[in-house]
Amino acid sequence: MRVLVVEDEVDLVRALKQALEEEGFSVDVATDGATGLLNAQSIAYDALVLDLMLPGLDGLSLLARLRQSRKTPVLILTARDAVADRVKGLDAGADDYLTKPFALDELVARLRALVRRSADRPSPLLRFADVELNTAARTVTRAGVAVDLTAKEYAVLELLALRRGSLVSRTEIYEHVYDEEELTVSNVVDVYVSNLRRKLGKDFVETRRGQGYILHE
Ligand code: CA
Repeated sequence: MRVLVVEDEVDLVRALKQALEEEGFSVDVATDGATGLLNAQSIAYDALVLDLMLPGLDGLSLLARLRQSRKTPVLILTARDAVADRVKGLDAGADDYLTKPFALDELVARLRALVRRSADRPSPLLRFADVELNTAARTVTRAGVAVDLTAKEYAVLELLALRRGSLVSRTEIYEHVYDEEELTVSNVVDVYVSNLRRKLGKDFVETRRGQGYILHE
């Protein structure tokens, strides 16, 4: 899952990026509102973490403009006791909020919940055939036996599982499992899928040649 953090406090940005990456997210960062808006409009992020007090364009204005074109889940960060800000943020289209200072664990858990809800999969357990994904623990079992996946293999599987029943293009997979700093070759997605087939069964995902992949219900 790929998230954009729009926040101008350098220490907080560093802590957020590290915590989210440890939890398997790909993370892009914008430290001012205008850049944040541009990124959020051009990339299909799975979620945004949005500070309200930002240089240039403030968070609420960013959110209002983003909502004209995208329904990306947005978690806003607000100052302590700023009830009016939270209300304005939720009214402007935010999906959740956290009050600073907050626990990183809680932020990660809330982001996961937002991503699940936006995919219309409210449970952290995703099951298909004899495979079960626990998106909270990021573990996978097949017929009850733990399956060892790399972080990227897991990320590809989770995306296909969240969208199961729909075709997911190679470009979408690429966009959701890499951040802007990771340069790689385009056929790497096929390599991950072929690893997943080896570990989870050769029929578990269908390839639509030239279009992408589909995991059936
Ligand atoms: Ca700020």
